[in-house]
Amino acid sequence: MSTPPRTAPLARTGFDPEATLAALASGPRAERLRHVHEVPARPASLAAWPDWVDPCVHAACAGAGVTSLWSHQREAADLAHAGSHVVMATGTASGKSLGYLLPVLTALVEGSSAPTGRGATALYLSPTKALAADQLARVQAMAVPGVRAATYDGDTPSEERRWIRDHAHLVLTNPDLVHHSLLPLHERWAPFLRRLRYVVIDECHVYRGVFGSHLAALLRRLRRVCARYGASPTFVLASATVRDPGDHASRLVGLPVEAVTVDGSPREEMTFALWEPGALDEGFGGTAPTGGDWAAGYTADEGPAGPGDELVGRSFPPQELRDTSGETPARRSATSEAADLLAELVSARVQTVAFARSRAGVEALASSARRRLEDQPRLAAAVAAYRGGYLPEERRELERALRDGDIIGLAATNALELGVDVSGLDAVLLAGWPGTRASLWQQAGRAGRAGTRSLAVFVAADDPLDTYVVNHPEVVFGQPVESTVLDPDNPHVLAPHLAAAAAELPLREADLEMFGPDARRLVDALVARGILRRRPSGWFWARSDRASDHVSLRGSGEVVGIVERRTGRVLGTIDEASAHSQAHTGAVHVHQGSTYIVTELDLETGTATAVRGDPGWSTFAQSVSAFDVVGAQDSRSWGPIDVAFGAVRVHNQVTSFLRRLPGGEVIGTHPLDLPQRTLSTKAVWWTMPVEWLAAAGVAEVDIPGAAHAAEHAAIGMMPLVATSDRWDIGGVSTALHPDTGLPTIMVYDGHPGGAGFAQRAYGVFEMWLSATLEAVRSCRCESGCPGCVQSPKCGNGNEPLDKAGAVRLLEAVLREAPQHH
Ligand SMILES: [Zn+2]
Ligand SMILES: [Zn+2]
Repeated sequence: MSTPPRTAPLARTGFDPEATLAALASGPRAERLRHVHEVPARPASLAAWPDWVDPCVHAACAGAGVTSLWSHQREAADLAHAGSHVVMATGTASGKSLGYLLPVLTALVEGSSAPTGRGATALYLSPTKALAADQLARVQAMAVPGVRAATYDGDTPSEERRWIRDHAHLVLTNPDLVHHSLLPLHERWAPFLRRLRYVVIDECHVYRGVFGSHLAALLRRLRRVCARYGASPTFVLASATVRDPGDHASRLVGLPVEAVTVDGSPREEMTFALWEPGALDEGFGGTAPTGGDWAAGYTADEGPAGPGDELVGRSFPPQELRDTSGETPARRSATSEAADLLAELVSARVQTVAFARSRAGVEALASSARRRLEDQPRLAAAVAAYRGGYLPEERRELERALRDGDIIGLAATNALELGVDVSGLDAVLLAGWPGTRASLWQQAGRAGRAGTRSLAVFVAADDPLDTYVVNHPEVVFGQPVESTVLDPDNPHVLAPHLAAAAAELPLREADLEMFGPDARRLVDALVARGILRRRPSGWFWARSDRASDHVSLRGSGEVVGIVERRTGRVLGTIDEASAHSQAHTGAVHVHQGSTYIVTELDLETGTATAVRGDPGWSTFAQSVSAFDVVGAQDSRSWGPIDVAFGAVRVHNQVTSFLRRLPGGEVIGTHPLDLPQRTLSTKAVWWTMPVEWLAAAGVAEVDIPGAAHAAEHAAIGMMPLVATSDRWDIGGVSTALHPDTGLPTIMVYDGHPGGAGFAQRAYGVFEMWLSATLEAVRSCRCESGCPGCVQSPKCGNGNEPLDKAGAVRLLEAVLREAPQHH
């Protein structure tokens, strides 16, 4: 036996997830392990090649090493080939690409014998340029004879653009380009569109909320322009696993879409742990072993060592946490805890990626892990941070370093979800709920090489949803409850798209149907505003500028630029609503990890002037909020409780800000003179009679605190039922609402016109409130913490909050639910 040379890869081969987990959860950390679930291996379900696949395509697949199909690939390919719109919703790395490439490439090859050499074309849409580039590389590697594929995006030189339009069979692009270029200039694309057989929409679960509403409108415009050229393409969509993917895809495309959801690809076993960080003063408990001593105990051949297999499938009682009332978190942050876990794993040569929710979190995670490893410089140097936004060469270099084992620990944001091929790692750490269950599984799916089991550890952040997840493992391991919502009828989104559609081709009466029931009313309003002109042959764009320039698909309205005072350099932008609360005069603003003080916010010019520097305090905007009920669209009564969904106007005014020291001490309150902002949107709200609340144990004087606390927790639980960010949602609670005359709690979509989140919450109201109650009740703090009822974006400085009152209020509301009578 010889010792390996010093330059040998650091990462080990052979990995036992259960023993690794047992080591992580040893000693004082035992009680942080809250649940272990064994995700079973799944055998491959194979399917025969369809006989309709063109022999050239078959040969190209064989050349690329693909000789058999998984059942879902066959099912989707058959449906698409037969002309049915189809969505594949299967796991990460389940080979969804092949499901659409078989019918698409077959159609393209068959079409290439046409006199023009281009009898059929296909359009591939992805949310990012990076993903389109990866798909192009895949198609080019297959080298199907006669198929010309090209990416077409903002970076494509104009001399290439023309060639692509005139000659490419497969164009890979993004929705923004379809909106700004392909549709407005559709005459140039006529030969391509005339032959358009397939539209592939990859990663379609990304199109949710307002972005989803934009894409829905865009696809209706595309269908209409295609129809003008006599084409009616088949839509093939790929999605992460979500609830009801067929419904989501049908709403996006506006046509019935079949769903393929049974995943036929094989999967190795994965040990999935839910981890709750310890109390703040406990630290991590124990030091990282040096040199991977405990790693020696678990080579792949030996099977589980230690108590590993006893852990599986069990939940553990919650640990006792010392209560720290007020603003102080009760437990360590997910980032610190994940950094310590990462250091331990790296120390044991377990190749691991740790996902954090923000760029700043990624930096903190990586540097903290390196610090813990500082007595082992070679290991410390094998920890890297990936923040996204890198050049393709840098991404490829990163992939290489991971493959070769030069990097053992990588901290990353979810930017990694798209566009970088990082797979086959041993372990994945998730520091905080990644936003959606789909993202959670997508990130966890980064672990696992062929033939080897893997480990995933979810580390709970101080957040009601994370608290709920560690107490309710079924949220992760049971059937999905969150659905991908979008509202194709949002008038704020649809109206400018109708204008853009009219600019592409005059709108006719018969066209309006595909744009939904409100289209006619919106078109009339556009005529009244002089944006469209009605003529006998239809509605025309009446202005001299470009209609598409009035819409941004990514949905931000007015933006404020953050400008460095010394250099005049634009550091970044922030939407106007956020500027009021985060970039007001005097705000301490953290931008990409650097701290600035805003010296002046000028709303006239849309600039916030800032100087670099950290004053040692943070600022918290204070605001007043109120809302008017415009009209309930739907409502129901639970005994004395009235629950409604409908249109509201939310008024918000940032009135002052607090300066606070890191310990939470307030060192000053400063008034601000900012205008009130009004948001017209959709909301779910419920009212409760005062006497009924009193009978439930919430005295009149306690109503503001109880309602406020219930509102915060309900907002925090929204991502459980709809794929939203906490930041997509707002809420207002009041002890006496002028419209309802009653104590009222309201939760609204934070985008003009709504985005579908509140509607979904109304639809699953009981489940949503039950989960909210559970999150608050099961949090072990005494009087409220960020894990239950405190909110990081509260405009009232989290005052007043009554945790116990919120529990009594929510229990009483749920007792009125119909089946309880
Ligand atoms: Zn709490
Ligand atoms: Zn609040």
